[in-house]
Amino acid sequence: MIEGKNLIAGIWESQSDSIKFKTVNPKTQQELAVDFQQATPDQISRAVEAASASFPQVSELTFSDRIRFLECIVEELESIQPELIATYQLESALPEGRANGEFQRTVDQISRFVELLKKGTFVKATLHTAGPDLRKMLAPLGLIVIFGASNFPLAFSTAGGDTISAFAAACPVIVKAHPYHAGTSELVAQAISKAVTRCDLPHGIFSHLGGQSHDIGGQLVSHPAVKGVGFTGSFAGGKALYDLAQQRGQPIPVFAEMGSINPIFITESKLQSDGALAEAIAQSVTLGTGQFCTNPGLIVACDPSGQFDLAQKISDSIRDLELPPMVHSNIQAQYDKQLFGLQGNDKLDKFFKSKTCAAAIGSVSAATFLSDTSLKEEVFGPFTLVVVCNSSEVLLAVAGALEGQLTATVLGESSDATILKSLLSQLKSKAGRILFQGVPTGVAVTEAMQHGGPFPATTDSRFTSVGTDAIYRWLRPVAFQDCPNALLPDALKDENPLNLLRTVNGEFTTATL
Ligand code: NAP
Repeated sequence: MIEGKNLIAGIWESQSDSIKFKTVNPKTQQELAVDFQQATPDQISRAVEAASASFPQVSELTFSDRIRFLECIVEELESIQPELIATYQLESALPEGRANGEFQRTVDQISRFVELLKKGTFVKATLHTAGPDLRKMLAPLGLIVIFGASNFPLAFSTAGGDTISAFAAACPVIVKAHPYHAGTSELVAQAISKAVTRCDLPHGIFSHLGGQSHDIGGQLVSHPAVKGVGFTGSFAGGKALYDLAQQRGQPIPVFAEMGSINPIFITESKLQSDGALAEAIAQSVTLGTGQFCTNPGLIVACDPSGQFDLAQKISDSIRDLELPPMVHSNIQAQYDKQLFGLQGNDKLDKFFKSKTCAAAIGSVSAATFLSDTSLKEEVFGPFTLVVVCNSSEVLLAVAGALEGQLTATVLGESSDATILKSLLSQLKSKAGRILFQGVPTGVAVTEAMQHGGPFPATTDSRFTSVGTDAIYRWLRPVAFQDCPNALLPDALKDENPLNLLRTVNGEFTTATL
């Protein structure tokens, strides 16, 4: 049952004098029944202190302890799936198929971290015994604060990849719930809390704080006991939290995933050969009402004769489309404001808005695009801007003018080898993931996924927030020099009791010393 309380290290607290807020059904614009309590400064302090006090014990959890914890979270989530899906839909208006798909993705990504812990190699045990005996491995960072994301109430929120990767790294976590889906977040927090109790873990390992004020996030990120931050959301939010973290007496890493326009580059021969291109792009742009971080917001097409008119073809595909509402009226209002600005922008050659849904398309010449930086800003929602280039060289110039991106997609034919090579060379320094087929929406959760990119896509392009490598955000290397074997962590002991694949004097091996 959802009660609107805050979870402070195992105790669901109610404070009668706390500020209250409600969630809203985006379909009906009706407020939902529960009064959620905004966490107070005292509750925030106590959650941080309990988490910090639990760290010595949490950091020593074995791989088996962590596996059991993650498996219990999955069991607890599965036991409340119907209530969770119903609440998710009420708070987000996303359809049942999306809700169940995101639920499955959430439990599947937890299972990927279980597999990672079973192998254990992620700790990168490295032994060099000649000269000083040096043994190095990755160790947990400390208390991590995670911000739930509005556009993924499950997979990027309370038990999403950020939280689970931090637990897998043996870090305590405080979740700042996203106020747009506070009920969904509370149900998930209840499941995690039950798993904490079942596994007999220190309750400080997990707290869950609600609120719709920047003060909560600000107080958390400024607290000296917090050692790292995970965030997905707006550029303004991510950058503000990053700046706050750098102003602390002891700066800490903030892994913020922010805006990206995920360009798709299309050569002239691809435009000629692929009749299904416009429809595929239209589907990707409008998927989830355009509220995906990897939504393609920019299509750069080489169309010297103008005969292919991709913008017109995409417009035809979205003309009669029906889409669910956006997840919150604030996000819709921001989208509408940006569309209004674009509609009135006389530099656009075309602007088309569907009458049946929020989807919209703009079209502009490459020369105009290159001269107007405002056209490079993310429009979060089902919108894309087609940039028409009259040569491959102009296509390359557009690529060169872009800022950091989560993804870049290159669609060409084998006859385009020269231009594709040049484009790839440009894009390697611009994007975290470069696709050569299909569309960028759809992010597989595997160890080879890269969901990150140069600023402003993220605040640290060296890491990913999707896939099992997300764990490396919460780990740091520690080397032990001439340490007695009995005092070493198991991963570094002579007898290799975990049977880990380690690097020993330059060789990968599971051998003992
Ligand atoms: P948001 O405004 O960035 O908020 C995300 C979370 O961060 C909320 O919990 C918010 O807390 C907190 N926060 C934001 N700014 C803060 C600050 N200065 N100090 C402390 N905490 C702060 O994102 P949103 O509410 O999800 O959506 C707003 C816009 O973000 C959208 O219209 C869209 O443009 C963008 N967005 C982008 C992506 C993406 O993947 N690129 C995903 C989601 C949203 P409070 O609300 O409690 O203050």
